[in-house]
Amino acid sequence: GLADRLQETLRKIRGKGKVTEADVKEMMREVRLALLEADVNFKVVRDFVNRVKERAVGQEVLKSLTPGQQVIKVVNEELTALMGGENAKLAVSQRPPTVIMMVGLQGAGKTTTTGKLAKYLQKQNRNPLLVAADIYRPAAIKQLEVLGERLNVPVFSLGDKESPVEIAKKAIEQAKEQHNDYVLIDTAGRLHIDETLMGELNQIKEAVNPEEILLVVDAMTGQDAVNVAQSFNDQLDITGVILTKLDGDTRGGAALSVKAVTGQPIKFVGMGEKLEALEPFHPDRMASRILGMGDVLTLIEKAQQEVDKEKAKELERKIRKMEFTFDDFLEQLEQVRNMGPLDELLGMLPGAGKVKGLKDLKVDEKKLKQVEAIVRSMTKEEKQNPEIINASRRKRIAQGSGTSVQDVNRLLKQFQDMKKMMKQMANMAGKKKKRKGFK
Ligand code: GDP
Ligand code: MG
Repeated sequence: GLADRLQETLRKIRGKGKVTEADVKEMMREVRLALLEADVNFKVVRDFVNRVKERAVGQEVLKSLTPGQQVIKVVNEELTALMGGENAKLAVSQRPPTVIMMVGLQGAGKTTTTGKLAKYLQKQNRNPLLVAADIYRPAAIKQLEVLGERLNVPVFSLGDKESPVEIAKKAIEQAKEQHNDYVLIDTAGRLHIDETLMGELNQIKEAVNPEEILLVVDAMTGQDAVNVAQSFNDQLDITGVILTKLDGDTRGGAALSVKAVTGQPIKFVGMGEKLEALEPFHPDRMASRILGMGDVLTLIEKAQQEVDKEKAKELERKIRKMEFTFDDFLEQLEQVRNMGPLDELLGMLPGAGKVKGLKDLKVDEKKLKQVEAIVRSMTKEEKQNPEIINASRRKRIAQGSGTSVQDVNRLLKQFQDMKKMMKQMANMAGKKKKRKGFK
């Protein structure tokens, strides 16, 4: 992938104590190839490479103490700038509701993303109304209604008897009456851009005067995604892009070209089919991720969202006193799950890209389920005092969880080892604190 190739190229220059103009040229030739191969628009690549070259062969870089690092810093900064520099926030209307139109081709992920955005807004204590304005596919209305039900968010629908324009207008009236501060309009898509589609979208736009027109594009379609974005922008004046399916096997080029080609920022990225798999797009973090510098901020944000600070303190206390039980263990398991796939989290750690095998590491959801089943088959007492789990209890637990006695043995052993390790770590941390205190 793009990240691997760029990291490989940059590794060669990173540690160099002396960097010549020829080194920079050589490196940029490889960067250029890597970007083109990742489906980044060729004009974008050309401009990007020129900008980096110009800055990187400048005196302050080549004469600096760490020229290799400096060159990478330049690449990082230019990648960030290419994607828009800063996170582009959702616009807010002065007079609620804030109306957001979701547009895009069929299958890009409009309906799913409408649901994700509703969830995102809900988390910020907003009160969105979803609008089913894709009346051409009967399943589309149903799909949105199901999402609304799951999220406990109202869905405005008039079936397929009224025109999308009427539906949108009436939805906004209802939103005003019922004090919904956001209105998310899910519109129809076609397989290709055509006049009918654009005509209808323009009519809705005129009727409801949306604060945002968000184009949903599928990252997997590479260059096509960028072309689609350009056409929609030409005909509709979009205000931002949501790039979906970035979790898939994409070459990532679209993320790098969209802003440069359309002038419109990526506001969110879709990272999976689940409703929580929507992330605000941060150009600097994306650049760091591509360059293998890790995306620590996103990681920390995720962790902070999910891990209750009070609980973390309580956990630390328990570990110190060796009171960590299987109940705590289950809770931990749940938190890890909520944070998302472990391999994705690990990938965000700085340097993780360099650790062999880590990339291919997939945390086995089946194994997690098995572990969970074993723990859930324990009695309350057993969870609190695993020492009492003797042979007959092990047999019963194995039967109850549909596993084997070996599986149960393995987990008990792992649990004991983990407890010991945690205790050691907690003690080390404690000693450090004390030593500091004496100074
Ligand atoms: P629409 O026709 O534009 O409304 O597209 P849908 O919302 O119906 O989505 C089409 C398919 O793409 C569905 O199977 C979604 O689950 C899937 N999808 C949407 N967003 C993502 C994403 O970020 N990642 C992945 N892997 N799949 C997605
Ligand atoms: Mg749809």
